[in-house]
Amino acid sequence: MGERMRRAAHAMLFPFPCSGHINPTLKLAELLHSRGVHVTFVNTEHNHERLLRRRGGGGALRGREGFRFEAVPDGLRDDERAAPDSTVRLYLSLRRSCGAPLVEVARRVASGGGVPPVTCVVLSGLVSFALDVAEELGVPAFVLWGTSACGFACTLRLRQLRQRGYTPLKDESYLTNGYLDTPIDWIAGVPTVRLGDVSSFVRTLDPTSFALRVEEDEANSCARAQGLILNTFDDLESDVLDALRDEFPRVYTVGPLAADRANGGLSLWEEDAACMAWLDAQPAGSVLYVSFGSLTVMSPEELAELAWGLADTRRPFLWVIRPGLIAGAGAGDHDVVTNALPDGFVAETKGRCFIAEWCAQEEVLRHRAVGGFLTHSGWNSTTESICAGVPMICWPGFADQYINSRYVRDEWGIGLRLDEELRREQVAAHVEKLMGGGGDRGKEMRRNAARWKAAAEAATAKGGSSYGGLDKLVEQLRLGQ
Ligand code: UDP
Repeated sequence: MGERMRRAAHAMLFPFPCSGHINPTLKLAELLHSRGVHVTFVNTEHNHERLLRRRGGGGALRGREGFRFEAVPDGLRDDERAAPDSTVRLYLSLRRSCGAPLVEVARRVASGGGVPPVTCVVLSGLVSFALDVAEELGVPAFVLWGTSACGFACTLRLRQLRQRGYTPLKDESYLTNGYLDTPIDWIAGVPTVRLGDVSSFVRTLDPTSFALRVEEDEANSCARAQGLILNTFDDLESDVLDALRDEFPRVYTVGPLAADRANGGLSLWEEDAACMAWLDAQPAGSVLYVSFGSLTVMSPEELAELAWGLADTRRPFLWVIRPGLIAGAGAGDHDVVTNALPDGFVAETKGRCFIAEWCAQEEVLRHRAVGGFLTHSGWNSTTESICAGVPMICWPGFADQYINSRYVRDEWGIGLRLDEELRREQVAAHVEKLMGGGGDRGKEMRRNAARWKAAAEAATAKGGSSYGGLDKLVEQLRLGQ
C-alpha cells in the first residue's frame, strides 16, 4: 500500500438508527467527505431497506467516490419493532448484536485495495458500545453527541442529581406540586434552571429507571472517546462550551450542520412534495409550520386541543402529522389521523391548513412563506429553525427538549413556550404573539432570530468557529489519534 493511502483518513460513522441521529451524522459525513476524508456510513439493515424503498433512495445510497454505505443487522424481530418499547429493545439489541458486524464491515471495506483502512469510528449518542468496536480496531473514537451543548452538560449531571436525591421523585404529586421548579444553579456554564428543565429523565418515580441510567451512562461514556463533536456553534453556547472544554480536552463544535440536498439526503419517510407548492402560494412570513419530529407521541385529546388552537388563529399553517404521532394509532394507519382530527376542523380550516405526513423540513423552514415554527424543541429542529431565522413556539416533552426550549425563550430570545397541558387558548394566543405584525415581543423575536441566523452563517463560513472546528477535527482524524 502506498504512503498516501496509509495516511488517508477513513471514518466509519454509525448513528443510532433514528432520524434525529441519522440526519446530523449524515450531514457530518458529507462535510468530512468534502474535506477529503474517506467515509463509510453504516445504517442498520432495516433502515437501509426502508431507505431503498423510498423514491430516489436507491440513488442516494449508491454512494460515490470515497463515500460508501454499508448495513449491519439490528437484531430485532418485526414484532419487537411494533412494540411500544421498541426504542429500548433496539438499544439493547444493538449492544448485543452489532459490535462484531461493525468490526467485520471495517475490515471488509478496506480489504479489496483502493480503500484505506478505517482510521477512526464516529458514533452518535446511545451507541456507546461502538467505543469497544474502535478499541478492537485499534483506532480512535469520536462521539457526535446530537443535542445542544447545554443538553449535554445537563445530561452529564443526571448522576449527581440522582446521588443528591433530586430524582427519582418521591411520588406522583411531585410532578405537579412545584417541586420541578426547584432551582438548579450548579451545572457549570448553565444559568440557574428549573429542575424540570434539566432533562425529562428527572421526572421518573422509578428508582431503577432504565432511561435515566442509560442517559447517564451514555453521556459519561463520552469521556472514553478521543473527541466530542457537537452540532452547535461557539457564539450560541459560549459559557457552557467553555465549561465543557474544561472537562473534555477535545470538543469540536461544527454546527449548525445543514443538509446537503445535492447529494440526495436520507429520509426514513416519504417527503410530501405538494406542501412546497402550497407554500409557494402563501404570502411571505404568513405560515406557521407545526411539527414534532420523529418520536413524539401525543394523545388524541392533545391533538384536538392543538387543532382547535390552530384553527382559532385564522392563520395558514402546515402541520406534519407523522404516522405514529397519535397515541394508539399504529404507524401507517392513515385513517386514524383523519378520524382523530376533531369534527368540523377540516371544514373550518379549509384553504389555510395543509396536513403532510412528512416533509423536507429544512426546505420548509427556509421557505419565504414560513414565519413561525411550533416545535417539540428537538435539537435538530431547533438548529434548523435557527439556520432559517424562524422564531419558535416550543412544546417540549422529552430528553433535552426542555432545556432547549428554556434557552430558545430565555437565552436566545427567539421563542415562546407552551404549558405542558396544551390549551387551545394558549396555542392561539402564542401564535398571535409570535406572528402578529403589531406586537413588540413578536418583532423582537424576529429580530433576534435574524441575528442568530447571521451568527450561524458566520460560524460555518470560512474563518468562522465551526469551520475552524471542522478543520481541527479533520486534522485529528488524519493524525489518527
Ligand atoms: N424532519 C423532517 N421532516 C418532518 C419532520 C422532521 O425531515 O416532517 C426531520 C427534521 O428536519 C429533523 C429530524 O427530522 O432533522 C428530527 O430531529 P429532532 O432532533 O428535531 O427531533 P427527534 O425526531 O429526534 O425527536
